[in-house]
Amino acid sequence: MTSHAHQMVRHTVVFRNLDVLRVERLTPHMQRVVFGGSDLHGFATAAPDDHVKLFFPNSRGEIVTPVMGPNGPTYPPGREYSPMRDYTPRYYESELNELTVDFVLHGEGPASNWAAQATPGQRIGAGGPRGSSIIADDFDAYVLIGDETALPAIGRRLEEMPAGTRVEVLAEIPHADDRQSWRSRAHAKVTWLERNAAAGDSSDLLEQALRELRIPAGDTFYWIATESRRARNMRLWLGQERGIPKDWMKAKGYWKAGADEDGEDD
Ligand SMILES: Cc1cc2nc3c(=O)[nH]c(=O)nc-3n(C[C@H](O)[C@H](O)[C@H](O)COP(=O)(O)OP(=O)(O)OC[C@H]3O[C@@H](n4cnc5c(N)ncnc54)[C@H](O)[C@@H]3O)c2cc1C
Repeated sequence: MTSHAHQMVRHTVVFRNLDVLRVERLTPHMQRVVFGGSDLHGFATAAPDDHVKLFFPNSRGEIVTPVMGPNGPTYPPGREYSPMRDYTPRYYESELNELTVDFVLHGEGPASNWAAQATPGQRIGAGGPRGSSIIADDFDAYVLIGDETALPAIGRRLEEMPAGTRVEVLAEIPHADDRQSWRSRAHAKVTWLERNAAAGDSSDLLEQALRELRIPAGDTFYWIATESRRARNMRLWLGQERGIPKDWMKAKGYWKAGADEDGEDD
């Protein structure tokens, strides 16, 4: 009898300054930035879809992050807050004290713009992760569905999955040259779906591929991360049309079409 019990691990929230150590253009639309610095010691990330809040320079070029007080995080008074966005810790290597984050270069917004010009020696702020949601590892199979913003979480999950786990990946990317290669001990099948000229909020390549997917035998967990409306619609479809229980899926909007406000509150 399998229990499929997920776990939540809470972390003490720490706000840090991060120093850019290296920058690498992974693919045309993905900029890898490796951060270090003394503040990073003790960083903890327990799940592949963890996220950190990153704080980018404000209009004065300053990084203004909250500070942790007895009543939670508060901003220093009279200062313009830094724009804040959510990003996946792609790797944290404690021996090297290095944190790798992969940024999609989608063309506008403080995070994407900052990543496009990132240079060693620059500094940004980071907060969290606040918690790690650990998905049960006793499902018979896993289906991972995401657009390019989900590639860091999907790549990390594939690399961390136990040997032999059955997993189907549906990954939507701007162009064929945005494919990534992942190492995995899992028994993984990756289907790349290239949008070419289409936009990430109106494409339906993932939805079509999900409808056509041969459902793996046994209990299957579905993980979805895309533009908000698309993630929500796929979650509803899985529940209503395929009868997938709520606990057997996790769907999250990783970005919102037309929205440029600061990241969500969780
Ligand atoms: C838990 C979590 C983890 C995430 N991990 C990553 C990660 O590791 N790497 C990563 O690149 N992103 C990741 N994201 C998504 C990222 O936070 C958003 O894409 C964010 O909006 C980017 O901020 P920005 O300042 O570049 O653009 P914003 O200022 O937020 O938006 C500006 C404009 O760009 C549009 N836009 C935003 N993102 C995209 C996009 N990806 N494609 C096309 N248009 C877009 C908006 O609709 C808006 O019109 C994650 C999100 C969540 C919730």
